[in-house]
Amino acid sequence: ATATVGACLVVGSTTPLLAQRKTLEQKVDSVLQLMTLEEKAGQLNQYTGDAVTGPAVNDPTKLEQIRTGRVGSMLNIRGAQRTRELQAEALKSRLKIPLLFGLDVIHGYQTTFPIPLGEAASWDMTAIRQSAHIAAVEAAAAGQHWTFAPMVDIARDPRWGRVMEGAGEDPYLGSQIARARVLGFQGEKIGATDAVLACAKHFAGYGAAQAGRDYHTVDMSRRLLWEVYLPPFKAALDAGAATFMNSFNELDGIPATGNRYLQRDILKGQWKFQGFVVSDWGSIGEMVNHGFAKDNADAGRLAMLAGSDMDMESRSYVNSLPALVKSGQVPEELVNDAVRRILRKKFELGLFQNPNRFSDVAREKKLVGAPEHRQIARDVARKSIVLLKNEGNVLPLDKKTKRIAIIGPLGTSKLNHAGFWAVNYDSTGYVSVLEGLQNKFGKQANIQYARGCGIKGESQAGFAEAVKTAQQSDVVVMAVGEAYDMSGEAKSRTDIGLPGQQEALIKAVVATGKPVVVLMMAGRPLTFNWTAEHAPAILYTWWLGSEAGNAIADVLTGDYNPAGKLPMTFPRSLGQVPIFYAAKSTGRPSSGDKDVLYKSAYIDQTNRPQYAFGHGLSYTKFTYGNLKLSSTQLGAGQSLTVSCTLTNAGKTAGEEVVQLYLRDMVASVTRPIQELKDFQKVQLKPGETKTLSFTITPEKLSFYNQEMQWTTEPGEFRLMLGSASDDIRLDSKFELLK
Ligand code: BGC
Repeated sequence: ATATVGACLVVGSTTPLLAQRKTLEQKVDSVLQLMTLEEKAGQLNQYTGDAVTGPAVNDPTKLEQIRTGRVGSMLNIRGAQRTRELQAEALKSRLKIPLLFGLDVIHGYQTTFPIPLGEAASWDMTAIRQSAHIAAVEAAAAGQHWTFAPMVDIARDPRWGRVMEGAGEDPYLGSQIARARVLGFQGEKIGATDAVLACAKHFAGYGAAQAGRDYHTVDMSRRLLWEVYLPPFKAALDAGAATFMNSFNELDGIPATGNRYLQRDILKGQWKFQGFVVSDWGSIGEMVNHGFAKDNADAGRLAMLAGSDMDMESRSYVNSLPALVKSGQVPEELVNDAVRRILRKKFELGLFQNPNRFSDVAREKKLVGAPEHRQIARDVARKSIVLLKNEGNVLPLDKKTKRIAIIGPLGTSKLNHAGFWAVNYDSTGYVSVLEGLQNKFGKQANIQYARGCGIKGESQAGFAEAVKTAQQSDVVVMAVGEAYDMSGEAKSRTDIGLPGQQEALIKAVVATGKPVVVLMMAGRPLTFNWTAEHAPAILYTWWLGSEAGNAIADVLTGDYNPAGKLPMTFPRSLGQVPIFYAAKSTGRPSSGDKDVLYKSAYIDQTNRPQYAFGHGLSYTKFTYGNLKLSSTQLGAGQSLTVSCTLTNAGKTAGEEVVQLYLRDMVASVTRPIQELKDFQKVQLKPGETKTLSFTITPEKLSFYNQEMQWTTEPGEFRLMLGSASDDIRLDSKFELLK
């Protein structure tokens, strides 16, 4: 008996029958039936640990609760040794139910990958999946069972600091990436020790905070919720996401944490989600501040009724659920269901057999920060870089360049490349731009660095030296942008310009007449109109992680030909926000019709963004041709095959992301002027031509009609294939018949 049910030895030794019980459900029930109400509430309780070194938990009450079965999960306990030590405390409890360890492993554990928004710019599902996998390998070896990732919130407002953590503005791209990340973190089957449970968050609507202010009110139509904000969650679910996290925001007047419609009706009802929902940090208790619950106990009641299974740091469940059940305010069956969902995962992870399966000091030593992981991090970092502009072919740099100037506050920075939400904030683990170029050029080039100014400071005292350094060079590489902690949770900004004096510094350096390449590092789309107009070359490098400097040097020299495409629209000014490519046409189209008197336009700026969704250049040139449709008239339920050729017409090998957009021309509800429905990332040698083929299924032509039914309607569709949402190369039409 003990061998099969393992650490829950109480069960094994008291009920020998259990050995014969096979199904997961029976195992789960056998534990559940032994639990007191207090222990059940405890299973639903999650606490944070303390600092990274020293005792894992300082708070004596928490420790006591761990020992008495009043805690089901801990977050922020790092390392094989520390998780083992704390697990040993939990195994002192009556039922010896092992703890589940969770951590925000968002873009790497020790080996840091690009911030998720940057990685999304790769449009490379293999790379994204691999990066999540490596993060899981390292985290699992260090004792983690569970990561609070991926964040799949659609984000259309660059003021919101958490745009850095998602996949950008588009539900289709966002869904593909959600899937890739879940599969990367979890592998094919839960329980392998090179994988962790994923958590699709924040359910739901969190990215639509009013005015981009974190945690702020969210109010949107049901149509927008279903069309744009929910699809990546559904994709994460379909990929097998074991857990979901609810969110801080209210939605249509109801906090997401206490929202039955979201959690019970949609997620656990319509979508049949079998995993568990964890609250966001303190989000149960925060329902008091929302004015939705009268006290912490009431908040616990509302959260449980609404379908939140685990309480992260509110202490509402552990303190209040037993009494709420006894007084009949919460049906015990709901609590049982929540406990079952959590126990199931613990069984699937094999923790009852061996609570320390994941916490393996030897494996941790071998795998965490392994050199081969850094190699992959470098590759993913290169793939995430977006070439925004390259006038006069300043790039790639000549490898025989003799004098290179690196100018700007981020030229020697290491730690900033970690980005927000990194696990590893030890600057020795990061390669700076200066180091990357030194590694690349060796003795060949004389590389000089001048800081010029700070990231946020207002002083121009360093300008003169910067200009002098530029003048003494053959080419200038400028490293500017945000500090890593200017984008992230609670890092909303009302000004998304390049901070401080950095754009003034760019002006001063460009004025020298030297060829200038601007490296823009940030966790969100920034506005930088002057630079966009006057700097000859711009690379958007986000926060690229451990290998940032090397990856940047690879791209600067053309050892890697950039292929990244923007996953989010870059506005010209904050006044254009919200701005996204999948907009609707108004009754007053802003272009095309000269006779319209009052257009839907600004009087002081164009409607066009600085850089459109999907934009990103290459060192080579791609030409599109031979568009063919298998039919221009489609019967209901039929699919359409679209093919085209793509040619590398330049002299360098490269990759292009061919993007397929559709527009439903007339429908019973208005449809966006463009919607991404497919894409392919294609590698081509110079002179090479490939034929690509896409299938347009009825699903891709469907939308929610006036009754909110997912349906297709007959009529005309426009089909667009291109290199960016504003760079359509092939255009055609087809008709869906009755
Ligand atoms: C964030 C979550 C995160 C949690 C645990 C919260 O503040 O919103 O995304 O997983 O903290 O660190």
